[in-house]
Amino acid sequence: MIFKSAHYCIFVQNKSGMNTTEQVEKILADTNLSTELQNIAHKVLHGERITFDEGVYLYEHAELGYLGVLANFIREQKHGDKTYFNRNFHLEPTNLCVYDCKFCSYSRLIKQKEEGWALTMEQMLDIVKKYDGEPVTEVHIVGGVLPQYDVAFYSALFTAIKQHRPDLHVKALTPVEYHYIFKKAKIDYATGMRLMKEAGLESIPGGGAEIFHPEIREQIAKDKCTGQQWLDIHEEWHKLGMRSNATMLYGHIEKYWHRVDHMEKLRELQDRTGGFQTFIPLKFRNQHNQMSNVPESSVIEDLRNYAIARIYMDNFDHIKAYWAMISRETAQLSLNYGVDDIDGTLDDTTKIYSMAGAEEQTPAMSTKELVNLIKQVGRKAIERDTLYNVVTDFEHVVFEEEKKPQYYKLPVVN
Ligand code: SF4
Repeated sequence: MIFKSAHYCIFVQNKSGMNTTEQVEKILADTNLSTELQNIAHKVLHGERITFDEGVYLYEHAELGYLGVLANFIREQKHGDKTYFNRNFHLEPTNLCVYDCKFCSYSRLIKQKEEGWALTMEQMLDIVKKYDGEPVTEVHIVGGVLPQYDVAFYSALFTAIKQHRPDLHVKALTPVEYHYIFKKAKIDYATGMRLMKEAGLESIPGGGAEIFHPEIREQIAKDKCTGQQWLDIHEEWHKLGMRSNATMLYGHIEKYWHRVDHMEKLRELQDRTGGFQTFIPLKFRNQHNQMSNVPESSVIEDLRNYAIARIYMDNFDHIKAYWAMISRETAQLSLNYGVDDIDGTLDDTTKIYSMAGAEEQTPAMSTKELVNLIKQVGRKAIERDTLYNVVTDFEHVVFEEEKKPQYYKLPVVN
């Protein structure tokens, strides 16, 4: 498959015949390109940071082919063909929530509680125990916000999980939950995050960021933590020497400059702490929520967004696409537009994507399927743990059933 855009072709299987440096040099030799795009390409080739205005310019003027060349250059400088995934499962304590975010397809207000679920500590630990003996490395805990899930509850949950299975990495909750439970407990963020760490929390996922700028945040997620509070909680966590991820919910009512403003704030914090591992652009999906009248972004816009994120977020090691959210095919394409991580071998333990109208209604993929998905587009599949330590390099792994000889049994003739 080939995407043609202006003068540039991006082969999905990276078979253009030129290496990534030569592709950028070809752009620089193009006299038809605007001075702004020439300057940005020059900066990328020399490892220089682009400015806020240049980020907005890319969104407003750059074509997909151009962006793909630059993003792929950076991706291959950082990771070569390596593409990461992990084996994890989701634990979603509740889909009931005290908040009412307009884009949320997942939560139910407390007054609609017959449509939701709220698990007890015992039920949650039973879910964890279901994975005993399975080669998962991480439990990803996230859900709605309810008063009964407070500091004491989550501390006890993290401790119980680590006592049961010390090797399972606990990646849990977002600043939305932390802000709520710390406020209720009347403790500051620094104290709260220290308590969570002592209880067994090992990293924070990227959710709850949405769009930081109040102009947008107040329209789509007005009561939960502000953008600044989200950043402050991650900063306190990083100060403890711990790692986290960051997301951006794009493609709804925000303008391009709101996206750049969001990325700029993350880039600034990362300069100070270095605690972020991965940036995850999240596509707004419009089913079953209060923003169903807002059209979704196209696949082209999704790929442009991944590429600009890769170019802008120069101090983030990884750009991740959730295959369960954007479809397997778009996830494969994204690997040529700056993405180097496509998340995990989900086993339908999460409802977050399907309830928002994602193509994958029961998102589940085996390790073999995920590895093949990556290999089909000429990349190398690496299973990682949460902190990007290599668990298995699948370059030379042959799966069991492929070892069997493929032949028909012939009848024995005397
Ligand atoms: S996005 Fe999160 S905080 Fe907002 S309503 Fe949904 S579950 Fe609640």
